[in-house]
Amino acid sequence: MAKFKGQVKQCVICGKQFRVPPSRAQQLYCSVACSYKSGERYEKIKKPLIPLKCPQCGKDFHELLSQSKHRVYCSLECKHSSLQYKELKKMLSSGENNGMWKGGGTNHADGYKYAYAPQKWECKKQYY
Ligand SMILES: [Zn+2]
Ligand SMILES: [Zn+2]
Repeated sequence: MAKFKGQVKQCVICGKQFRVPPSRAQQLYCSVACSYKSGERYEKIKKPLIPLKCPQCGKDFHELLSQSKHRVYCSLECKHSSLQYKELKKMLSSGENNGMWKGGGTNHADGYKYAYAPQKWECKKQYY
């Protein structure tokens, strides 16, 4: 334990302090329960928002830091009308591999589940 190299973070939901290994420095919640709560309340919580520009319609929008790396377009409509998406869809439908596209995360519902999959949270118990 003396060699713990992670950092102490504060849960954005309940305010409790917890420690995370460097690999999970982006973790925002102390527990699975809090991560679930965040799903309902995350819009009310003050979290860093990253300004982004939609490459499809040029609109400025903001996305949570934790989601911003998955987020490209301002909306699903823009995503779906983008050339890239059409190409990818073509590619995927030819391979019958649509499941992969889910990980893209532009759909916030999907992206959320993906980024905070419960399995990931279970591993952290060892740090208690
Ligand atoms: Zn918490
Ligand atoms: Zn757009």
